[in-house]
Amino acid sequence: MSMKKILVVEDERQIARMVQAYLSREGYRVEAAFDGEEGWTRFNEGRPDLVILDLMLPRLHGLELARRIRAGSDVPIIMLTARAEEADRVAGLELGADDYVTKPFSLRELAARVRAVLRRVEGTAPREVMELGPLKIDFAAREVYLEGKPVELTPTEFDLLAYLARHPGRVFTRTELLEAIQERSYASLPRTIDSHIKNLRHKIEPDPASPQFILTVHGVGYKFHLAEGG
Ligand code: CA
Repeated sequence: MSMKKILVVEDERQIARMVQAYLSREGYRVEAAFDGEEGWTRFNEGRPDLVILDLMLPRLHGLELARRIRAGSDVPIIMLTARAEEADRVAGLELGADDYVTKPFSLRELAARVRAVLRRVEGTAPREVMELGPLKIDFAAREVYLEGKPVELTPTEFDLLAYLARHPGRVFTRTELLEAIQERSYASLPRTIDSHIKNLRHKIEPDPASPQFILTVHGVGYKFHLAEGG
């Protein structure tokens, strides 16, 4: 198995070096770039399997770098953001970044995200039936079962659930989810998603008050939770 290549773009050299050292020990080949332009050059030369991207970067902003990368590549991107950069984080997810980690972060957490994102990218063969404990989704038949009993979902609810479940662990903004279900009625404000999610939870969650499948990511949107190894 060849070593996965990771590019870290981060102008705080100490952080970049720590990430590089930690992920190298985890078995990845890690390159670092210290500003946005250098990141773009290294990306094109190195063709990494994953990019860890700080957003506040000199010379070329992280969002602009993400936009350039996404224009020609599906390489997974994990953003490093400060707590105060919520708007940037949302913009980054809308540009197609896969995940984010908020500074200060633990190296262990970052490594776990890296593993999860790489695993997701590798296992992209679409499954036709997904069974998650009490929940079963049959994508082809558009049927959902909870504890063996069929669940009645509206077409929009099914589309939303299927979209989330096909991208487990990935955080989506409300706008992305609206686009995904192609809801274009006059009422489709981002908050419309909240009411669909609420209805879905009542139908598919064993305990809608403490959801185990569709999780809220505060300040951002929603994600579908898959237990480790699931
Ligand atoms: Ca920075």
